[in-house]
Amino acid sequence: MRAVCPGSFDPITHGHLDIVRRAGALFDEVIVAVGRNSAKNYLFDTDQRVDMVRASVADLPGVRVEVLSGLLVDFCRAQGAEVVVKGLRFASDFDFELQMAHINHSLTGLETVLLPASAQWGTLSSTMVREVASLGGDVSAFVPALVAERIEQKRNARG
Ligand code: ADP
Repeated sequence: MRAVCPGSFDPITHGHLDIVRRAGALFDEVIVAVGRNSAKNYLFDTDQRVDMVRASVADLPGVRVEVLSGLLVDFCRAQGAEVVVKGLRFASDFDFELQMAHINHSLTGLETVLLPASAQWGTLSSTMVREVASLGGDVSAFVPALVAERIEQKRNARG
């Protein structure tokens, strides 16, 4: 069975990677779908986010990365994926994911599997990483080395 792990990945964190890895153990193939939403104000543009995700999952067999624009159910149908895998951190994730799961199932029968976030990364978010990074903090414990490097480069470029 083929699964999709969608998200913004702005930037990808160890929390995302944990979910992708675990999805890889449950399904034959995993497509990490990097969202491109014109209404969102990203720190990293689509190419940069895709590039960082590709590098971070390069050692995971059966995992590939694609750009997601438009409806998730349409993307999944086009990719021949029957299931979406999302990570659940706090109650607010659940409230949101339940609505998404219901509407996606109503639209095309797409199934959703919700994996509890691991204890280690259970409250980590890209938003927190961006916040800490923008205030000059060290985020290297939370993101792959390449991502920490890119954040540092961005910071240096901005002066
Ligand atoms: P974020 O919420 O961190 O900005 P995304 O919008 O990219 O990230 O989220 C995509 C998916 O990744 C969501 O299902 C979200 O719950 C999951 N996710 C994000 N961070 C973690 C984490 N630390 N542990 C488990 N799942 C996570």
